[in-house]
Amino acid sequence: MSTITHRKDTRPVRVGNVVIGGKDEVIIQSMTTTKTHDVEATVKEIHRLEEAGCQVVRVACPDDRAAEAIPEIKKQINIPLVVDIHFDYRLALKAIEGGADKIRINPGNIGKRERVEAVVNAAKAKGIPIRIGVNAGSLERHLIEKYGYPTPEAMVESALEHIKILEDLDFHDIVVSLKASDVHLAIKAYEMAAKEIQYPIHLGITESGTLFAGTVKSAAGLGAILSKGIGSTLRISLSADPVEEVKVARELLKSFGLAANAATLISCPTCGRIEIDLISIANDVEEYIQKIKAPIKVAVLGCAVNGPGEAREADIGIAGARGEGLLFRHGEIIRKVPEEIMVDELKKEVDKLAEEHYKK
Ligand code: SF4
Repeated sequence: MSTITHRKDTRPVRVGNVVIGGKDEVIIQSMTTTKTHDVEATVKEIHRLEEAGCQVVRVACPDDRAAEAIPEIKKQINIPLVVDIHFDYRLALKAIEGGADKIRINPGNIGKRERVEAVVNAAKAKGIPIRIGVNAGSLERHLIEKYGYPTPEAMVESALEHIKILEDLDFHDIVVSLKASDVHLAIKAYEMAAKEIQYPIHLGITESGTLFAGTVKSAAGLGAILSKGIGSTLRISLSADPVEEVKVARELLKSFGLAANAATLISCPTCGRIEIDLISIANDVEEYIQKIKAPIKVAVLGCAVNGPGEAREADIGIAGARGEGLLFRHGEIIRKVPEEIMVDELKKEVDKLAEEHYKK
């Protein structure tokens, strides 16, 4: 399969045990929906996100109770934790002290210079990065006055202003996002930013909507941006269980060959030649391969007439035949199995391939 040329010339930025930027991989993020001070509920949600393939998780930090929960949350999770703060530098200091692996705060919104310095020095001391999050809906007043409304130029200028504050303090572990809910605006802003900014770029379309509409909108917008090789990390924002955000992100990255740790399902659209109950089998296999953390391609096809040939790139696959299934690898049939056990046999083969991959 051909893959896009992904931009690798961004500065690698370390977030806990994950590196964002500088390589051909896009890190999947999500954000919790629980009250951060409710440690038990937050940790439970983060474990579900981890299980789904989330690589970095963000929590909101609106008050002292949330900031004080950070150390306990950190103790109980395995993936890096980003703490999201608006304005209040004291919360940023508490979050950093509490073990945040990255903070999201806009330095231009912190206020007095000594407050910005305090946050930057604390982040430097702990070796953690800062994400600047530009949002089309909350651009600085002077930029709205200059441009009239949120334009890609205004968004990039906002990002550059925040970056300059950090660079003037000799701080360079920066990640930048430029989110908008308008897909055109987001695409243009990210394209412009990629030309001007060498720091890793965090992609997102904000307020994109419900599971169905938001998935389509995010895939349209982020797909256009990813196809240009832009982006080192992303979050899909949905009005849904955040586990769904991770699933959509993985699927989107898989379609660009940018997820190193996920299996892909190829399934046929079905037609009059179909010999098996393909739709339920495809859904079952799709669910099963969610847990596979290896880049294996699995095919499920309705018939053997065109099936194996149509899915030649599959590492393993099954094609329906009358009363049985044909297991095939890279287009070659390896054996026949009775219909009742063909899905189980396929799963066993998938597990075997995954084991071989993990041992490598
Ligand atoms: Fe039709 Fe067979 Fe192709 Fe599926 S694999 S679309 S059933 S010809």
